[in-house]
Amino acid sequence: MHDFLIVGGGINGLLVARELASTGADIILIDKGVTGNESSWAGGGIVSPLYPWHYSAAVTELASWSQAKYPNLIDELIDATGIDPQYSVTGLLMLAAQDEQQALSWARKFNRRMELVDATFIYEKAPRLAKGYESALWMSDVANVRNPRLCKALREFLLRQSNVRLVERMELLDISTNESRLTGIEIKHPASSETENISARNYIFCAGAWTFQLMQKVGVEINVHPVKGQMLLYQQQESALTTILLKNGYYLIPRKDGLMLAGSTLEYSEFDKSITAPAREELGSAVRQLLPELADQEPVKQWAGLRPGSDRGLPFIGKVAPFENLFVNAGQFRNGLLLAPASARLMSDIILRNEPIVTPEPFDPGISVGSNQGNT
Ligand SMILES: Cc1cc2nc3c(=O)[nH]c(=O)nc-3n(C[C@H](O)[C@H](O)[C@H](O)COP(=O)(O)OP(=O)(O)OC[C@H]3O[C@@H](n4cnc5c(N)ncnc54)[C@H](O)[C@@H]3O)c2cc1C
Repeated sequence: MHDFLIVGGGINGLLVARELASTGADIILIDKGVTGNESSWAGGGIVSPLYPWHYSAAVTELASWSQAKYPNLIDELIDATGIDPQYSVTGLLMLAAQDEQQALSWARKFNRRMELVDATFIYEKAPRLAKGYESALWMSDVANVRNPRLCKALREFLLRQSNVRLVERMELLDISTNESRLTGIEIKHPASSETENISARNYIFCAGAWTFQLMQKVGVEINVHPVKGQMLLYQQQESALTTILLKNGYYLIPRKDGLMLAGSTLEYSEFDKSITAPAREELGSAVRQLLPELADQEPVKQWAGLRPGSDRGLPFIGKVAPFENLFVNAGQFRNGLLLAPASARLMSDIILRNEPIVTPEPFDPGISVGSNQGNT
């Protein structure tokens, strides 16, 4: 019997597997597709919330832990796999932020780098930005990471661990329980009618936007629902942009090789991942307003992903009552790539009963707290 069975191999499941594998435990991870191909592939990879002062202190604590650990995580993955997720500290320039003073006092309180900058600074950082900006907020230490490569590196890392088994293209269909424990799961390949049963001592659900559906099978409500986000990709002629720009919720992210991402829409549309013309227009218009010289340029790609939306403003990380051996790590919503290292570590601290890296109570799946995580 396996020690740990993880359902879902997005960034959250992959990193939980890595944490638990380091103890020498026997891990099996199941994904209905190829790991890292859902929201964790679709995201922009900004290693910061868009408007960090809109979040609770608990999220800030989790985010700060992740931000501090990211560079080491990337180095370790490059060393172990040779795959470079291109973690890049580009800084984040926030234009037309409504609540600058609130932002600056948040930064002072949490010791985060943020300053109010003038037009000279803005146009030095972003010479091709549309004219007319007199001030902005600047966060110099914000990074972005190529999330598809990060997931690829993690997958490769886990494939090399003798105590980890990745089972891809196998979908969880059903869950067996007795009164206080999960006793097994039933899985199936999409193209086959045969099913297989697997059991483990402990079960950790990291199923992103599918978490509510799956937890319903054991009569538990974890309110994580899909929130679609569409993105556009541009090939810049010369590097028109070298820093992340953010205005009115729309952002542009420069990658190291001259590609630039523009995001993102926020659509409450269940499990629909189709791309649409109105979203292309909405995002294209935001790009044209920020970088007028891209007005005639068509994006080279458009895609959509399903964020694991949580309306309580906090992810769900912890043990799921009434079961002794069921855990969940999901609902990181717009910040899953940022929060993943800390979320995975907190999850493993809770499971292994280690001293937790942050106070776990706010993330307890049984506690309902209201906030405004969805607004930014
Ligand atoms: C457009 C967009 C932009 C974003 N930008 C950013 C950003 O800049 N910074 C940031 O931090 N975050 C960003 N995010 C959010 C981030 O991508 C997510 O929060 C994060 O990827 C969630 O990871 P996850 O592992 O929980 O979910 P996922 O990556 O969705 O993984 C869940 C996994 O569970 C598997 N699964 C589901 N059901 C089953 C089943 N029945 N059986 C087996 N497996 C199953 C799925 O196949 C999937 O692989 C963005 C998201 C989107 C869509």
